[in-house]
Amino acid sequence: MKTPEKFVYVFGSSRTEGAAAMKNLLGGKGANLAEMCRLGITVPSGFTISTEACTAFTEQGREAVFELIQGEVLAGVKFLELEMGKTFGDASDPLLLSVRSGARASMPGMMDTILNLGLNDEAVLGLARKTNDARFAWDSYRRFVQMYGDVVMGLKPVSKEDHDPFEVIIDMVKAQKGVKQDTELDADDLKELVQRFKSLIRARIGRDFPTDPWEQLWGAVWAVFESWNNERACVYRELNDIPASWGTAVNVQVMVFGNLGDHSATGVAFSRDAGTGEDLFNGEFLVNAQGEDVVAGIRTPQQVSLVGSRRWAELALVTEEERRLHYPSLEELMPDIYQQLLHAETTLENHFRDMQDIEFTIQQGKLWMLQTRNGKRTGSAMVRIAMEMLQQGMIDEKTALQRVAPERLNELLHPIFDSGARKAAEILARGLPASPGAATGQIVFHADEAETWAKVGKDVILVRQETSPEDLRGMSVARGILTARGGMTSHAAVVARGMGKCCVSGAGAVHVDLKARTMSIGEAVYHEGDWISLDGSAGEVYAGKIATKDAELSGDFGKLMALTDQYKRLDIRANADTPDEARVARNFGAAGIGLCRTEHMFFEGARILAVREMILADNEAGRRKALAKLLPMQRGDFEGLFREMHDLPVTIRLLDPPLHEFLPHDEANQRAMATEMGVSLGKIRMRVEELHEFNPMMGHRGCRLGISYPEITEMQARAVFEAALNVRAAGIRVKTEIMVPLVGTVREFNAQSDVIRRTAATVFAERGETLDYLLGSMIETPRGALMADSIAREAEFFSFGTNDLTQMTLGFSRDDAGKFLPEYLKRGIYEHDPFRSIDQKGVGVLVQMAVEKGRSARPDLEVGVCGEHGGDPVSVAFFHQAGLDYVSCSPYRVPIARLAAAQAALTS
Ligand code: ADP
Ligand code: MG
Ligand code: MG
Repeated sequence: MKTPEKFVYVFGSSRTEGAAAMKNLLGGKGANLAEMCRLGITVPSGFTISTEACTAFTEQGREAVFELIQGEVLAGVKFLELEMGKTFGDASDPLLLSVRSGARASMPGMMDTILNLGLNDEAVLGLARKTNDARFAWDSYRRFVQMYGDVVMGLKPVSKEDHDPFEVIIDMVKAQKGVKQDTELDADDLKELVQRFKSLIRARIGRDFPTDPWEQLWGAVWAVFESWNNERACVYRELNDIPASWGTAVNVQVMVFGNLGDHSATGVAFSRDAGTGEDLFNGEFLVNAQGEDVVAGIRTPQQVSLVGSRRWAELALVTEEERRLHYPSLEELMPDIYQQLLHAETTLENHFRDMQDIEFTIQQGKLWMLQTRNGKRTGSAMVRIAMEMLQQGMIDEKTALQRVAPERLNELLHPIFDSGARKAAEILARGLPASPGAATGQIVFHADEAETWAKVGKDVILVRQETSPEDLRGMSVARGILTARGGMTSHAAVVARGMGKCCVSGAGAVHVDLKARTMSIGEAVYHEGDWISLDGSAGEVYAGKIATKDAELSGDFGKLMALTDQYKRLDIRANADTPDEARVARNFGAAGIGLCRTEHMFFEGARILAVREMILADNEAGRRKALAKLLPMQRGDFEGLFREMHDLPVTIRLLDPPLHEFLPHDEANQRAMATEMGVSLGKIRMRVEELHEFNPMMGHRGCRLGISYPEITEMQARAVFEAALNVRAAGIRVKTEIMVPLVGTVREFNAQSDVIRRTAATVFAERGETLDYLLGSMIETPRGALMADSIAREAEFFSFGTNDLTQMTLGFSRDDAGKFLPEYLKRGIYEHDPFRSIDQKGVGVLVQMAVEKGRSARPDLEVGVCGEHGGDPVSVAFFHQAGLDYVSCSPYRVPIARLAAAQAALTS
């Protein structure tokens, strides 16, 4: 890397060097602090050390970076001294600073912030004298020692059952005094805390707490740079695809104090509801508090607006009187400040044209803004906010479409509680509706255990006193999260909304005992492994499991989907084998069925008997007899599909899997089959043995079956044509497409198309009517892709079976890759799972080439994709680029693919 000229950028009332557009260099927090200054919003002055310094720190180490930035940091502090008329290190009137991390993408709570930096035993007295408030001075000092001791000096809990060592001391001192709240501790108690904290630090690491403000400042700067590579930051980056190379910036900022008495406060607010998307300013604050007190769930926070406060009281079962007395809103408590906050919030939302998540502090009746960013939100909030901002004229259609991450639509497609079943369930406790959704699972108390349980396929609900960034992985695998403490802006709530995960927070009646691994509510005790259910939209906790039902496309979601149709070029079809699946797909806006796997129809009830009879038959006559039994059933299946998908295309694939899949492989089931069919066990065993293959994936399957046993293809083709004619007779339009699987040479295709066309002619002659249909080929072997032009001369459409095409091109099967693929991904041998997102550089080239060759032979060739990749947003963008006509995916992913297709059209 070329060494940059400049590392430090100031912001303040007299001069601001940064701006919102400089996020890469200044991080999101630093860039937006500068932007707020430019907008004339009141922000404490500060300076930002750029992300390039962090990169240099990682590459060249502390000493080298010190040389690089020392002069600029000194100048930055000088700038703050001039702005404030105070001197850093002046013990009689100390200038106190905060040191805050801030990366390009927001990583809430991922890295640590240090407040009140610059205090020591002498300066604390100066501060007390200057403010005439000893309690405040000592409160600030004990917070500083605690944060610095944790973040810079590394005093953390020893094990997962352990508590924070500083909190243990605080609890001890509180117990000695017989008080419950931090606010009940007086100056002397706080002074004692500082002493005890410092001795703890000395005892644990054998070093004294640093007294020199400059030493404190540099220690904090290095700690922020180091935190970029701490465990929880790495986990967050991994979960959110953030490259390690970005680095974090450091913001050094003048302190303002929310803990300076009863006219001071600190809070967090959102310009719209992050859970539901409702256009309602909302937030929480605490009087006489600082920094993360609101998020840490130490005291019950109060609501910013009166509406919000009333809603909260209703949920928390607090009477209006009690609310007004003990938990008044900011709107009631400090009406002027509330108006200023509302004004700032509106200014910021209009400026950024997106929902803002803001942090503020009130110091003795003056409002200071400390942060603004585009707020994290649930999938449903994403949709509602985008559509309402569009309607309000704040953004245009294209922006609205791009505001919603396709993958997040998943949350709106998930089942919700069946209302009948929920009414019948027993409510155990109420908390806050921190993140909407429905979840049922078994209780676990530790994040790492959530992971272990989830790995073996269990549904878990993570139950904690409160969560912390260490719990991230466990939270991400849990069905839902329940916390006993914390408000709507607690760590659990914010992170759960970001993940689109159901969360109930601050359920005060819940008592968690980590050691005993129990949760008690009143008299009742629940153990690890017990089943509970959560309704994150209502904030309710239920006993046991509750049945769920399917979600619907309506309201803003429906509008968004309609909008996708105006912009996308790709059609989205669904992979559906049954009328039920077809109905779901249609509801979600599928433009047809891109893949009906006929073999799935062979397993149900009496059918499997006929299928087995066919497999056991010694000759063609025997097979035909069994197939004749299957014909009416298969025909019925197709009629159901055609009816459901009237007017839309239905693509039917001929039988694909090897025949051994239809036979039992263990003796007990073979015996049962023998009795049922009246044949000897020996015969069944022999047939199973004959059908055994060393590599079934590359064995006797696909069109190879139909070539060996043309009577199977004949029966299937007859079932399709007869069904189509029957349904048409009832006035329903059908668009039939038949496709031949696993074609590697045009001769295979021809062998099958002969049978199909002959069967069509026979059926049409029998019925005295004809039907238009398309006959196509799957492209799923590498040779098929290479030979695409010759195949396209015969086939009327292509459907890429990207699952098989991927396996065969990569030379490893999806089912066996689990043994090494995770390691491959970790080491970057493959950048992502090629079965989830198409391998663009390899398999993708085959797709592009086959499209080109196919269209050169038949310009109007219809081309689609029917592998899992059809539901992956990144792959959808690739298929759009490759010029395909449609992708087909599972019914539940149809809306995701529709949005991804619209976004692909917008960006290309
Ligand atoms: P995070 O990235 O975790 O949100 P922040 O850097 O925003 O961390 O700091 C957390 C909290 O610390 C802020 O929300 C604010 O309440 C408090 N804080 C940070 N800087 C200052 C400051 N200069 N004055 C007062 N409070 C501050
Ligand atoms: Mg923090
Ligand atoms: Mg913050």
